[in-house]
Amino acid sequence: MFENVGYSLKMLAKIIFATGIAASLVIGGMLIAQGMGYELMAIIIIISGVLCSYMSSLLLYGFGELLELVKSLTGGKAVTSSPKVSGVVKSVVNRVKITNSDAIVNTATCDLCQKSDNTLRPARYTDAVGTRYIKVCPECFKNYNCEDLA
Ligand SMILES: [Zn+2]
Repeated sequence: MFENVGYSLKMLAKIIFATGIAASLVIGGMLIAQGMGYELMAIIIIISGVLCSYMSSLLLYGFGELLELVKSLTGGKAVTSSPKVSGVVKSVVNRVKITNSDAIVNTATCDLCQKSDNTLRPARYTDAVGTRYIKVCPECFKNYNCEDLA
């Protein structure tokens, strides 16, 4: 059942596409057949139904194709058991990790003075507006009457 996920997803995408179109055609057709002035609504339902089924199945189909491609690269084995692909995956994962940690350092700014700082600490901060839980640099912690979270 789960051996050929890529292929199954592609089939599922086709089924969703077909049933989505069929359903919108049936509903639209029924509205038109009633002849009660719902023709415009019927046409809108048909068009949006076709578009929605196309777009949702496109995404699923593309993902299925991607999985099939990965599987063909690994010679039918799981991604992690192929040294070649797992090497690629590891280097991508490492790159993402590095990018993420860069982002964390760059975006770690004190909530009070907005200075970049990697020694931020969580604190309870009270002012005229009320009490908030924020991350502050050691300087602001001293200067703005912040309290440690007990
Ligand atoms: Zn600060």
